Amino acid sequence: MWLSSLKTGLKKGFLNKDRHFLQRWPTHTKVVFFGPPNVFQDEITQRFAVDVGVPVVSMNTVLRNVVEQAGKTEEFSHSFFLRVRDMLNAGDEEGLIKEKVHTKLLRLCSQAQNGFILTDFPANVAQAETLESFRGGLNAFVHVSLPEDILVDIEENKLECADCGREYFPETIVDESLGIRIAPFMPETDGHCVDCGSTNIRSSSDPISFERELEAYKATKEGLLAFYNHFGTLVDFELKHGFEDYDNLKRKIQMNIKH
Ligand SMILES: [Zn+2]
Repeated sequence: MWLSSLKTGLKKGFLNKDRHFLQRWPTHTKVVFFGPPNVFQDEITQRFAVDVGVPVVSMNTVLRNVVEQAGKTEEFSHSFFLRVRDMLNAGDEEGLIKEKVHTKLLRLCSQAQNGFILTDFPANVAQAETLESFRGGLNAFVHVSLPEDILVDIEENKLECADCGREYFPETIVDESLGIRIAPFMPETDGHCVDCGSTNIRSSSDPISFERELEAYKATKEGLLAFYNHFGTLVDFELKHGFEDYDNLKRKIQMNIKH
């Protein structure tokens, strides 16, 4: 009797109980980060990809490759690629969705086989629906946000390395009432870019593209958040300290990610 209850206990794992155990990442983790411009999305994406050990796959790059290569190289000689190229050139978004082109391309993309962080996709609910049909769908759709005033402040305060594109922020951005304090990020005293060593660091503020990206975000935000909330994969996170919030953000994703 005691032996069978011991065996049952072992199966339940009582020899290995650890209350501090934090679930690991799912096998083949699939995550999308979504947010307005200036929420440090590139930095967060790159760092998270390294931490979790999955590649960053850009849907825009995948599509651009098809447009550039279709019919020109042997790998891209199949009629499927020619049709996709024509649809992309014609801006036939409806056709792309109907033929599930995006997920078909992901299946063909060797980098996307064992999990990924996907960028530039999905941009709307119809695209999100097709993505859910790809290998069980996303494990987490992470909405990273900041109040709009702060996004504008960051835009006005932005510098970049002209040689490698690394972004810098010379001013502290503070809003006491919102509990926001974003520290400056600049090269050490000598003024050389931390990534490439260049001294060619200049303003990169671009109000027109900022405005355009912000409008695109606002137009799709409610729909996408409701969609992923329904699937239980939405992780909503408001930054308080810019990229310095990364560890807290990562912990929140890990606590909430769908396995
Ligand atoms: Zn640089």
